Amino acid sequence: MAVNQTSGAPQSQVKQTPARRLKAAARKARELSLVGRALASTAHPVMAQIVPMRFCNLSCAYCNEYDKVSEPVPVDEMLRRIDHLGRLGTSIITISGGEPLTHPDLDQVIARIRKVGALAGMITNGYFLVPDRIKRLNKAGLDHLQISIDNIEPDDVSKKSLKVLDKKLQWLSEHADFHVNINSVVGGGIKNPQDALVIGRRAIELGFTSTIGIIHDGDGQLKPLGDAERAVWEEMRSWKKKNYSRFNQFQEAIANGQPNDWRCRAGSRYLYICEDGLVHYCSQQRGFPGVPLSDYTAADLKREFLTEKTCAPNCTISCVHQVSHIDHWRAPQTTRVSPGAVEDLVNIQI
Ligand code: SF4
Ligand code: SF4
Repeated sequence: MAVNQTSGAPQSQVKQTPARRLKAAARKARELSLVGRALASTAHPVMAQIVPMRFCNLSCAYCNEYDKVSEPVPVDEMLRRIDHLGRLGTSIITISGGEPLTHPDLDQVIARIRKVGALAGMITNGYFLVPDRIKRLNKAGLDHLQISIDNIEPDDVSKKSLKVLDKKLQWLSEHADFHVNINSVVGGGIKNPQDALVIGRRAIELGFTSTIGIIHDGDGQLKPLGDAERAVWEEMRSWKKKNYSRFNQFQEAIANGQPNDWRCRAGSRYLYICEDGLVHYCSQQRGFPGVPLSDYTAADLKREFLTEKTCAPNCTISCVHQVSHIDHWRAPQTTRVSPGAVEDLVNIQI
């Protein structure tokens, strides 16, 4: 593993081929069109996260989104769910888990997402990526892939480690036609904050984008980052904007241990579909509203758009913040719900 650890903003070492540049431009055009549609109308979901498989091959200490026994959701049922998300007008459908690459019919699910006109994304731990699997993901039409890497060496908190995954990253750099983002983290029991810098540099060298998230220990309170974590956080934020997610301003408040003032549009602009096919606000608020996706209608989207979630100030779920940001300037929320206990809402990462 050749990792550049010098200071300053890292540079990509990868020369993109004309074919790849063309594919990236076509994807960008579709993204811009979907952003335009999201700005023009609030009547459809911008992003849905869907779980085809709760089983995961790993057991990260901070995670409550997996088990060791679940069977894959049958592919016909997955396709019905994707079709319904298409009818609701969903712009981006992101497959997560558990570990989605353990689903035997994943490529069919990805192809169906593209067929209904949505952007196809996936969040994976990367363990099952090999050149042939990456080429099949290209063929299925995957648009975006995210891998979270928590540390350099595996430990008892996480085995999503650069040392284990670096070869996978090299294969992705070589073969993937889709966009790849590597997310690293600070907080939440991650022992060496400096690891995030090494992971971020490696990601950019290999031609990927890089983001950093904050995980908090599950003690119920937002806390400011410590000095070492803050230094890592500041350095990664100082890297070129093109390498860094532009919609992560909300994390500044989280890094300072302060609540955010925002309108969560979960249940409307963002949907979380669990393995049982129920719509939830997000992975941490299961049961709200807890309605089968097949029964979810435009009326549900409208009601939830206007419903304030009292868990919002301390929420750290990046993807919902990003999606809700599109509508932050309009439509104050007129009703209110308090899902779950607020103190459960801080140990979260996309
Ligand atoms: S964080 Fe991801 S890789 Fe780790 S146990 Fe949870 S689902 Fe599996
Ligand atoms: S935890 Fe966050 S994303 Fe989920 S409902 Fe509450 S505010 Fe929204």
